[in-house]
Amino acid sequence: LKKDMKRISPFLWKVDKGYRDDMNVPAMIFATENMLDDVLKDRSIEQLINVSTLPGIQKAAIVMPDVHEGYGFPIGGVAATLWPSGVISPGGIGYDINCGVRLLKADCEFSKIRRHIELLGAAIYSNVPSGVGKSGDIVLSSKKLDNVLKHGSKWMVENGYGYEEDIERTESSGCLKNADPDAVFEKAKKRGHDQLGTMGAGNHFVEIDIVDEIFDSEIANAYGLFKGQAVVLIHTGSRGLGHQVATDYIKIMMSSMKKYGIEVPDRELACAPFDSNEGQQYFNAMAAAANFAWANRQAITHKVRQAWESVLGKDSRLSMLYDVAHNIAKIEEHEIEGQKRKVIVHRKGATRAFGPGHPDITSQYREVGQPVIIPGSMGTASYVLAGTNVSMQMSFGSSCHGAGRQMSRSEAKRRRQGSDVLMELENRGIHVQSGSLRGLAEEAPGAYKDVDDVVNVVSMAGIAKKVARLKPMMVIKG
Ligand code: 5GP
Ligand code: MN
Ligand code: MN
Repeated sequence: LKKDMKRISPFLWKVDKGYRDDMNVPAMIFATENMLDDVLKDRSIEQLINVSTLPGIQKAAIVMPDVHEGYGFPIGGVAATLWPSGVISPGGIGYDINCGVRLLKADCEFSKIRRHIELLGAAIYSNVPSGVGKSGDIVLSSKKLDNVLKHGSKWMVENGYGYEEDIERTESSGCLKNADPDAVFEKAKKRGHDQLGTMGAGNHFVEIDIVDEIFDSEIANAYGLFKGQAVVLIHTGSRGLGHQVATDYIKIMMSSMKKYGIEVPDRELACAPFDSNEGQQYFNAMAAAANFAWANRQAITHKVRQAWESVLGKDSRLSMLYDVAHNIAKIEEHEIEGQKRKVIVHRKGATRAFGPGHPDITSQYREVGQPVIIPGSMGTASYVLAGTNVSMQMSFGSSCHGAGRQMSRSEAKRRRQGSDVLMELENRGIHVQSGSLRGLAEEAPGAYKDVDDVVNVVSMAGIAKKVARLKPMMVIKG
């Protein structure tokens, strides 16, 4: 496969449409040559080529440098299909619908809170339930749950879980309008009704970081970030509810594909025409799950603020930088072959990265481009970047979403003991609050790619601009 890859730039590679008969568009890979060698060790590029065969796909099937193998679609992938007749595919969004990250900013330097770090970690750990299938203290009646599914962050703020400005600083204002609670089956609702405000396990976390480097002071100013500042990074999604929505609709689409005459090279690419009944039902259920995820990050924000105040006093504040989704599909307008076209953009392990001037960015950040929040791992840096106009042209306004796994969970566990990982981190001054040592082994920093390399690729390729680097000080995990 490597010999069939054309080098477009040191950071971008292309597999032509002619590589396989069934491709509808080329495949594009953002990576350095070194990274490419690693990427080719798993099935992710083969999966990307499979994606390029989807009915209605536009321009190119794209992966970011954090790419790795996923369910049907590679993680780190972007695929846009023509609205309204192109397909929508649950595998192109992922099981954790609207998994995403949110960054909160303290109004003070980390040095001011350093001596309270362990208390803060303990308070957050006890306030934000974590672990697989864990429920929390917010239990929603079916009517309230429907409201959450319909209105997302807005309902949360109206019910005391945050501020109006949190909504403005959330992608899509924390609410996809097409959400339909009736498209979400009972089983999914049952799994979700008591999970609001819970983190889940493994890769999900709440983390206290220090801003340890500013790369672009103008944009950092616009974002309200400064060197030495304490910030809180939150990563989670739609919990059991979103997972069940994905499960239910993948099953439905697997059996409806035949009816629509859709053939895909891998069953996991199950999909339906966007304008079909199945396509619409899934899109509306996915939006409801996305709203649930935003409500969840809003509930966690509220609980983190409570913990923060309980340790640091009533007038300590955590304000929002931004909240981005990295597993979602959205209807957007993009320029394709010189024309503006409406497309269904699937981002699976990819972050929206709209550039300066885009009307969908909150007015506060519109001039500089939207914040793009990239977690690295519990032992390395994480980054804040800004969207650019290059991303609008090259990647449907998208960038990477993390460092990306380079080791499977089972391999990571074979290599390291959780207790070792814990010790190493503590020795480096990084505190950890976790319910599971095995989880820590799976999440060892070495299980992920080098986030500095990944971020350098997107920044050198121009699809996002480096603004600030964060260093973990306290990691709270499931
Ligand atoms: P995903 O959504 O693919 O599970 O995770 C997104 C990214 O989060 C991963 O690719 C990884 O780089 C990053 N990540 C996983 N665990 C942690 C953590 O504990 N802290 C930070 N800062 N990043 C993490
Ligand atoms: Mn997730
Ligand atoms: Mn995620």
